[in-house]
Amino acid sequence: MHFLQNHPHLLEIAYDATHKLLRPFRSWLKPGGAVEKIFVQGEIVSKGVVFNCQMCGQCVLHSTGMTCPMNCPKNLRNGPCGGVRSNGHCEIKPEMPCVCVQAWERSKDMPMYGSEILHVLPPVNRRLQGTSAWINDVTGESKKVPVGWTE
Ligand code: SF4
Ligand code: SF4
Repeated sequence: MHFLQNHPHLLEIAYDATHKLLRPFRSWLKPGGAVEKIFVQGEIVSKGVVFNCQMCGQCVLHSTGMTCPMNCPKNLRNGPCGGVRSNGHCEIKPEMPCVCVQAWERSKDMPMYGSEILHVLPPVNRRLQGTSAWINDVTGESKKVPVGWTE
């Protein structure tokens, strides 16, 4: 199913449709509830097979060319480290294309969300690891700034 990542426009359409479908139900979708357990299992299966999702709980796929940044060994979300090889592969895993290079290339085929790759993303909130990214997204949980992150 990873081949779907090479059709990022289809994936961004699916993302947009799912987001619109879930938004009206956001008051029922609570982090930590029984419904979340179902969402977590669904995300493990669906996003696992397509994106090799690492369940960070703070999904930014639409901002990273529908390429999961948590597959970068350094978990970088805002562009590549300085070690990308001349063939576009990862400095740490030479057999693997650099996640950020793939994200950049795929974002060019995303007319709806492709420009979001230019936005600077906040650091990953590790406290959301293992939770439902969909619920965190529609409820705004993923956008909350954790205590201690501000001055
Ligand atoms: S960004 Fe997070 S939630 Fe989205 S696919 Fe990657 S690990 Fe999963
Ligand atoms: S080369 Fe790319 S995938 Fe590898 S660690 Fe650096 S940014 Fe991440």
